[in-house]
Amino acid sequence: MSRILLLLDDRQNRHLLVNTLAQTNEIVAPEGLSSKELEKLIQQPFDLCILCSVMLKRYRQALHARKEAEYPIVLPYLLVITQKQLRIINYNSLHSIDELITIPIVKRELLLRVEVLLRSRLLSQQMHTANKKLLMEIEQIRCLETDIRSSLERERTLNELKSRFVSMVSHEFRSPLQVILSSSQIIEQHGDRLSLEKKQQFFQHIKANVKKMNQLLNNVLTIGEVDLKMLKADIKPINLSDFSRDLIEEICLTSEQHRKIAFKFYGGYNDVYVNENLIRHILINLLSNAVKYSSPENDINFTLRCQDGEAIFTIQDKGIGIPREDKEKLFGLFQRASNAKDIPGTGLGLAIVKKCVDLYAGSLELESEVGAGTTVTVKLPIPQPAPVYR
Ligand code: ATP
Ligand code: MG
Repeated sequence: MSRILLLLDDRQNRHLLVNTLAQTNEIVAPEGLSSKELEKLIQQPFDLCILCSVMLKRYRQALHARKEAEYPIVLPYLLVITQKQLRIINYNSLHSIDELITIPIVKRELLLRVEVLLRSRLLSQQMHTANKKLLMEIEQIRCLETDIRSSLERERTLNELKSRFVSMVSHEFRSPLQVILSSSQIIEQHGDRLSLEKKQQFFQHIKANVKKMNQLLNNVLTIGEVDLKMLKADIKPINLSDFSRDLIEEICLTSEQHRKIAFKFYGGYNDVYVNENLIRHILINLLSNAVKYSSPENDINFTLRCQDGEAIFTIQDKGIGIPREDKEKLFGLFQRASNAKDIPGTGLGLAIVKKCVDLYAGSLELESEVGAGTTVTVKLPIPQPAPVYR
């Protein structure tokens, strides 16, 4: 049922319209209301307004604003007008009017006009709903298109990265392979003329380069695992300070020279749930760098702080340091500082550290000065202390 608002100052016309339209519509026909009350009524919902020219003049602004607010849905206004008014009426004043009916009102004509106007409102409502649905569908298609585009872009970058990685890796493998090949050729072809010492030297070269290739392979595999998020999520409750001490022992045992790593632990708790695999990669690489790029006379300091849901690892050495211009690039693949060329390394350790820290949603800071040493600070979230199992 449609709701029709009657704004007619002539009582007789009002009654005629109420009688004619009330059977099939809900009629609001105010009588004796103040201007304020009428303006309020115009704000209430209705589907059609039938009004006379006096009311149109009096409430022109409110009626116009109400019509605008409904846009794009049609809110029809039907003007009841005398023949005399029709002759002198100004076109501009008909701005909001959709249809006219002249007095004396013919019932049949009134019913037809009301029917047509209400139908146009209904159609515009249906069109509006269909439009909204269409817009939503377009938006969904647009989102889908953006998704497809970005996954294509991701795929392309991944492919680019893969081929760059493959060519970098093959390049890095080439030089140790070359050394192994040439050393073994020399031994094969001139072995009988070489001194024992010289032969030992070539064997050393071969062994060192096999070791390098082995390390390279392990690091490349780790990078691949971290990139593909395939690294085993080894989340378990561990005692971080005991874990750190074990790693220090592991590093010192495998180091060729006697090394001292001084460990300090601060904090209220250290039994935490962590991804042991990620932390191991981070700490092993940082500790082995500290060992590799400093001399045995200088101790390495390793501190662990567990506070406010965070584990802060600081590893400080007094080694060769890193030139300022090299610092930024060292977290990239196969990057090495200009002052480290004589020290063996694959240039993948810090890249692994960075990827693991990122996976852990932690942060990484590196401070270094050539000749003075390097300090790396890693902060990792440790959400809650693990329950104590006895
Ligand atoms: P590997 O992949 O075997 O670890 P690497 O040590 O050369 O080889 P990264 O650990 O990635 O590779 O380090 C990159 C470079 O950063 C090193 O080659 C070195 O030049 C510099 N570097 C890293 N840590 C230190 C440090 N503690 N002191 C001085 N230089 C460092
Ligand atoms: Mg390293």
